[in-house]
Amino acid sequence: MTEFHAETCLLPDGWASGVSMTVDADGRISALAAGTSPAPDAVRLGAVLPGMANLHSHSFQRAMAGLTERRGGSEDSFWSWRQLMYAFNERLTPDHVEAVAALVQVEMLESGFTSAGEFHYLHHGPDGTPYDDRAEMAGRICAAAGATGIALTLLPVYYRYSGFGEAEASHGQRRFLHDPDSYASLIEAAQRHVGALPHARLGLAPHSLRAASVKDISAILPLVENAPVHIHISEQVQEVEDCLAANGQRPVAWLMDHLTVNDDWCLIHATHMDEAETAALARSGAVAGLCPLTEANLGDGLFPAEAYLEAGGRIGIGSDSHIRIDLAEELRLLEYGVRLTRRRRNALAGPGQSTGRTLFEAALAGGAQALKQPARGLAVGERADFVELDTADPVLAGRSGDALLDSWLFCGDKRQVRSVHVGGRERVREGRALVRDKVAAAYRSAIADLLDGAG
Ligand code: ZN
Repeated sequence: MTEFHAETCLLPDGWASGVSMTVDADGRISALAAGTSPAPDAVRLGAVLPGMANLHSHSFQRAMAGLTERRGGSEDSFWSWRQLMYAFNERLTPDHVEAVAALVQVEMLESGFTSAGEFHYLHHGPDGTPYDDRAEMAGRICAAAGATGIALTLLPVYYRYSGFGEAEASHGQRRFLHDPDSYASLIEAAQRHVGALPHARLGLAPHSLRAASVKDISAILPLVENAPVHIHISEQVQEVEDCLAANGQRPVAWLMDHLTVNDDWCLIHATHMDEAETAALARSGAVAGLCPLTEANLGDGLFPAEAYLEAGGRIGIGSDSHIRIDLAEELRLLEYGVRLTRRRRNALAGPGQSTGRTLFEAALAGGAQALKQPARGLAVGERADFVELDTADPVLAGRSGDALLDSWLFCGDKRQVRSVHVGGRERVREGRALVRDKVAAAYRSAIADLLDGAG
């Protein structure tokens, strides 16, 4: 049993002061009370927030962050970025993947994320042959999570085609590919790695409507009971046009007409939706998995956040390509996208409500739902995943309640994150992950190896 005492804490029903929290040996909160004085042996904390889920990650892409910011000969787009990404991932070994995933998880923890959804599609060896352990790469991501302590929802990706109409996969995609039978073997093997890891869950991830047919998606859905199901959708205008040409419907409309999309589902990006799709997705109970920094970096477009939230839609956030990993900045950019296009302020909060609190709580609930990780925030019986902000930091000076959260999200970044606990266990202290030095050294060595070989 460990006793914590927070100066101030965001609980499911709002802010409270003098919060004592007892965490049992399983990492669950066994007692919680507000208005208390700290017990002599309590761990003293500043401002405490429930831990947030980062619902969308391709961790290997962190290794190429910053390497695709030089303009090419013609117009650069998502598709030219993807060509570079494919060239880069040709060279990745299981050791590289583990080293890069661990750094990504460290950076997530240090910015206030306590769980991560790894949408994992680099499965096979360089020539496309499966490893002896079909889930070798997935196992390396689990190993990284074992070292860093982040709560992992592993989402092994089903990838078969290169485009609508079951177009044959390209050479650059050979490390990703499965049919429903081989994917079942992958899931079985991945289950062994996930089962050995505390706080881990297994989900299913048909890559996109480009890469998986509705028939195949239906075939793989029963492989994991009660699984979170994640899919990329409508990230690009070209994808919408291709879907219209192949199916006569836009992607979100097509998906919702052909499969039962409910609160097990998370639709990643869903950037380009018309009004009917926006309303239908909001009604479905599924989560829209938004990745504002990646969507900005890739020039994807803006998610219709205002209409979707007004319709009661659920959202969560992810750092996707990891061009930067920063919880505060993801939520800030989501709001700023709306401000810049609508020329209004506080566009996503209801009248009289704090924008920071509105977005934080929406992403907290949606992220937990999408990853099937703890859902109710800091409450008795829930896992003790929490983030402490340093109230001595000038960014937070004199701030309390919603103003503290607004100040962090709009004026701050990971530098105000002082400590992070997952399942009651300390993973970040004084802003640094406990395993940072070791993980950063392994990452540097993996990068040196990758870039050296790339000439
Ligand atoms: Zn993605």
